Amino acid sequence: STMNGLRTAARLKTGAVANANAIPRRHISDISITRTGKASGRSSLGGHTVTVFGATGFLGRYIVNRLARQGCTVIVPFREEMAKRHLKVTGDLGRVIFMEYDLRNTPSLEESVRHSDTVYNLIGRNYPTKNFTLEDVHVEGVERIAEVVAKYDVDRFIHVSSHNADLNSPSEFFRTKAQGEKVARDIFPETTIVRPAPMFGFEDRLLHKLAGVTNFLTSNHMQERFNPVHAIDVGKALEKMIQDDSTAQQTYELYGPTNYSTAEIAELVDKEIIKRRRHINVPKKVLQPIAKILNQALWWPTTSADEIEREFIDQKIDPSAKTFADLGIEPAELASLTFHYLQGYRSASFNDLPPATEREKREEKKYLHVLD
Ligand code: NDP
Repeated sequence: STMNGLRTAARLKTGAVANANAIPRRHISDISITRTGKASGRSSLGGHTVTVFGATGFLGRYIVNRLARQGCTVIVPFREEMAKRHLKVTGDLGRVIFMEYDLRNTPSLEESVRHSDTVYNLIGRNYPTKNFTLEDVHVEGVERIAEVVAKYDVDRFIHVSSHNADLNSPSEFFRTKAQGEKVARDIFPETTIVRPAPMFGFEDRLLHKLAGVTNFLTSNHMQERFNPVHAIDVGKALEKMIQDDSTAQQTYELYGPTNYSTAEIAELVDKEIIKRRRHINVPKKVLQPIAKILNQALWWPTTSADEIEREFIDQKIDPSAKTFADLGIEPAELASLTFHYLQGYRSASFNDLPPATEREKREEKKYLHVLD
């Protein structure tokens, strides 16, 4: 944005922009060279080689696209061909490199990090799978990655944990996340730890879960409270960390400005989609065993017993952790973005928006979620 500011200033100075009050438009160009002689853009040489584990998930694209478009070489370890395709176009040809890997295959991990100066670990799972328990993913996996990071003398390791990571939590997810943090710091003391609050965005499991019809069984009358955070803001924070060495060894808790209960968010969602979603409360004692059986029997993600446990845990903010303010980022407010993310759930009969002008139509950005 400083770069954009500079460019806008340059244009203003040369009189290229007639109206000084015009809102500066964002330009994402392949390469641009500022008056200081510094180059940026996806065709520039960014200087960093970065591995992003877990890039195929929801948060992954918001950091891969930021790195790739400033000219970093990004290594994306992947398991599934189809899950990684959208990341290819975020950078110039040859700058986003895919490596097939397995979390249990150490040589494949070594190959993924051996040329990198920075490694991000975004790997995480909400529920146990047939092949991986939560501990396998959040503790053993982190251990293997931290070990190769240390072995290949990588300069920076940025590990994404979770809000409420706590060794004594009643939730296995939060417990294993805390164990993972410890393992990472034991092996690589300079690890930067990032604990995001529940995230919202295009591919989230928060707004879309509440707007959909399949997730109507809840356990705590949706009374758990937390500060939802915009995935794009978390992406911005992850990008800042690579540019600022003082973030090494620090712990960041990234959360939005407002504290909500799930019920309050559900109300916002209902208003936005102009529908009433039913939420039936079932006691934890009844719901947990059912969730456990379904989670094991079905091969698609369903609510796990541990996710029900987490419905009873409010977000607790660690006052000793750093936040967005320390990174100079002002986090977005959920209520200001619900329309953006949920308008697709409205029935066509509520499509009562004023018609777009020709100009607006031309400027409309497709795939807004990749560019943010
Ligand atoms: P996603 O579930 O969307 O993505 C998870 C990533 O982890 C995917 O790339 C997935 O790979 C990878 N992964 C999971 N299990 C394994 C495994 N056994 N072996 C290899 N790779 C694996 O997560 P998000 O993007 O939403 O979250 C990113 C991180 O932030 C995670 O660590 C998560 O726990 C944490 N977090 C997320 C919150 C949220 O609200 N979303 C809140 C708090 C923390 P593949 O595509 O191959 O399955």
